[in-house]
Amino acid sequence: MTNLLLDGQTALVTGGSRGIGKAVALALAESGAEVVLNYSSSFEKAEEVIQQIKANGGKAYKIKADVSNEGSVDQLIKEVLNQSGKVDVLINNAGITKDGLLMRMKTEDWQSVINLNLTGVFLCTRAVSRPMIKQKKGRIINITSVVGLMGNAGQANYAASKAGVIGLTRSAAKEFASRGITVNAVAPGFIETDMTKDLEAEPILASIPLGTFGKPEDIAGTVKFLAADPAAAYITGQVLQVDGGMVMS
Ligand code: NAP
Repeated sequence: MTNLLLDGQTALVTGGSRGIGKAVALALAESGAEVVLNYSSSFEKAEEVIQQIKANGGKAYKIKADVSNEGSVDQLIKEVLNQSGKVDVLINNAGITKDGLLMRMKTEDWQSVINLNLTGVFLCTRAVSRPMIKQKKGRIINITSVVGLMGNAGQANYAASKAGVIGLTRSAAKEFASRGITVNAVAPGFIETDMTKDLEAEPILASIPLGTFGKPEDIAGTVKFLAADPAAAYITGQVLQVDGGMVMS
């Protein structure tokens, strides 16, 4: 264990079986948090992350749940409260893409991306709000995207969902500020995961001033900072871009 800034805290990571969520789960556990790893279909990958955390001396368990489904989310939070008695940190990370030009986009591809990427964030945030308000303490960190700030041809559904997450983040930050709960968003640029592995890399790379793609660990470091007390205690309603300088405003 390197540092234990989150010792004694329980952190729920949605979509923690792969990519950014996995790196976030490992980083939070390394900081001393008990990690609850949510996954939807990758049972074995989720179990590997749990074993990796335990091998490093950390605490973690996994719960299967479809974060786009209200009943499934309510059951997920119920199970976390049953097993851990509390939830101190929520990382809304689970997300998907279903790319296509708007003119030809199927309504179901619009809807499924909105259902997980935006409604899922709402459902999880609502479900943890009561226990967090009761304990007068909480950190909610939403993974949005620079695409939600700048738009992207072929990703109208995804960009709308991620822009929605920014509005949701700021509204929740205002609602919960007096209750000791901070709500922030992290906006990654291009991070090397399953989500981006089939994209044409060269033109994107040319638009990144730092000259490299991001790694899941780059996002995990920022999430760990936003979860840490007192380091990030006075930060709320913010969108932190982690994109190698791709989008500057
Ligand atoms: P990824 O490698 O494709 O992983 C997606 C994760 O979401 C998996 O753990 C998956 O779990 C989970 N998931 C999918 N559907 C779910 C559902 N219905 N309920 C619960 N979990 C579900 O993606 P990633 O690149 O790590 O992306 C993570 C987040 O970062 C997403 O919100 C994404 O939009 C955002 N982001 C990524 C990039 C990038 O460049 N990669 C850039 C900006 C923002 P299972 O495998 O168990 O289904």
